[in-house]
Amino acid sequence: MSARSTTGEYEFACPQCGEGFEVNRGMRGAVLDRGCPICGSVASKRDFSPLSL
Ligand SMILES: [Zn+2]
Repeated sequence: MSARSTTGEYEFACPQCGEGFEVNRGMRGAVLDRGCPICGSVASKRDFSPLSL
């Protein structure tokens, strides 16, 4: 329906592959746990910035 969803709570910017996308809290935990979903490199908390909506 709506083109823009507001599920993103954080912006993730991968320092390895340069991909950036919005994640919610659960996805943030998953990325921290498993690494970048694009390139698989380890992600750290500083690769996330909170989005103010
Ligand atoms: Zn990556």
